[in-house]
Amino acid sequence: MKKLALMLTMFCLILAMAIPALAGRLEEIEKRGTLICGVKDTVPQFGMVDEKTKQIVGFDVDMCKIIADKLGVKLELKPVTSATRIPMLAQGQVDLVAATMTHKKEREEQIDFSITYFNASQKLLVKKGSGIKSVADLKGKKVASVKGSTSEKNVKAAQPDCTVISFENYPEAFLALKQGKAVAATTDDVILAGLIGADDNPDEWEIVGEPISAEPYGLGVPENDSDFRDAVNVALMDAWESGAFQKAYDKWFGPKSKTPLPLTWTLELWP
Ligand code: GLU
Repeated sequence: MKKLALMLTMFCLILAMAIPALAGRLEEIEKRGTLICGVKDTVPQFGMVDEKTKQIVGFDVDMCKIIADKLGVKLELKPVTSATRIPMLAQGQVDLVAATMTHKKEREEQIDFSITYFNASQKLLVKKGSGIKSVADLKGKKVASVKGSTSEKNVKAAQPDCTVISFENYPEAFLALKQGKAVAATTDDVILAGLIGADDNPDEWEIVGEPISAEPYGLGVPENDSDFRDAVNVALMDAWESGAFQKAYDKWFGPKSKTPLPLTWTLELWP
């Protein structure tokens, strides 16, 4: 009898210890009172440092704000790069990644994704009059991109005879193009448009070629936590229905922005 009581106590103790570990990210965030979001800090219009306030601002930051507001918690931003965002999320250093990240099947092995919240496609950025018009013209040439991005892989797959030089971020890839170390820089069209928009001489540059690939962006969420993923998806859909999504979109991509881009797609909406 004594042995049974002891075993029962042990069982209860183990269970009590296991419960916090089983608690989902949603409870963790609510308890902490803060959503920790991984965002880029060098991508114009999505995640960049505001010169005046020194704060990170952009469309991806606004997506984080929408989620934090819906959860009723504060927002903390942590800078990520294309290479660090998935490991940081998988290791629990951030709760969410909003960082121009394409929802790729292969990335599903490490993390999960929200519904698509932005649609981009990969293109080439070149100096006007360079003669480079498509990936075919990259044969035997150097092209600049970023480590850990889909862009560096896609361009090599589309043109196996080019040399890809990969940097930590897109402004560095653009700089390589300016310095003549590469004949083109490549990534998503909207990021390239942002780089041109932020440049001192925007008229010197152009985006060329047919789309190399479709790049649907998803918010990265921890693997196998459907309660949290549901909350993120519902927050996005609510924002679409309330007009908050459109407001954020217009702020960064509306007619008065540096990168005007009509919103041509709708968010997936569950009834
Ligand atoms: N959307 C692409 C990706 O997820 C390129 C942009 C980026 O590097 O964030 O890799």
